[in-house]
Amino acid sequence: MLDLAHLPPERTGRLRALLDEVLRVNRQFNLTAVRQPDEAWTKHILDSLQGLKTGFFEGARRVADVGAGAGFPGLALAIARPDLRVTLLDSTRKKCDFMAAAIEKFALNADVLCERAEIAGQNKQWREQFDVATARAVGSLGEVCELALPLIKVGGHLVLWRGAQAREELYQSRSALSKLGGAAAGSVAAGGVKAEAGAVLPYTLPGHNTSYHLVVIEKVKPTPPGYPRRVGLPKQRPL
Ligand code: SAM
Repeated sequence: MLDLAHLPPERTGRLRALLDEVLRVNRQFNLTAVRQPDEAWTKHILDSLQGLKTGFFEGARRVADVGAGAGFPGLALAIARPDLRVTLLDSTRKKCDFMAAAIEKFALNADVLCERAEIAGQNKQWREQFDVATARAVGSLGEVCELALPLIKVGGHLVLWRGAQAREELYQSRSALSKLGGAAAGSVAAGGVKAEAGAVLPYTLPGHNTSYHLVVIEKVKPTPPGYPRRVGLPKQRPL
């Protein structure tokens, strides 16, 4: 579990204020199913910050959070790491409006892209522009790789928040990854195709028995121009 002690107290206070804002707006607009404040602190804030443990945010400048929803992990990362420029991508207007208001309220180094990832990934303004992409609770592993890998520069990383089956999912997605220009981080130097230890990081959250995992994919070559396919296909016909 990531310990928040390393964060300046001012940033921890801002994370609490962000969560208060999410829960306040949620009473009116149903942004998230997690409504109880302690549970929301764990599931939204502590969980979002786990990604920093991977080390792949060090030296990064631009981060895209794909399917950011109410802003997790993206808004939490923008508060914890104000040196990162975070683009929050989601296709649902009310979630985008909430994130844009939060960026303004907390003066964050972030912006909102209210668009389908399939469209953004084919637009040169966003394609291969990001050092890191993140995604939590967005589709199958193959689907989210097709949505997010086109946005990442060669040499950049995709950090995914996944559940208990992460290793199996990664193994089953190996052909999709290779079509999209990705590889499980750590497997490249070893010359292998299977996930190395560094690509799947297990973690737990206080009060939860579930085993969670961060999966890290490295972009090793450009994504072919046909990906992402047209809107809906990554989900309907996973690679
Ligand atoms: N990442 C947030 C979290 O963990 O709390 C939200 C997860 S929510 C289950 C999935 C989000 O992904 C939704 O807000 C949905 O609008 C967005 N989404 C799904 N497919 C998308 C796509 N193809 N393009 C853009 N956004 C997408």
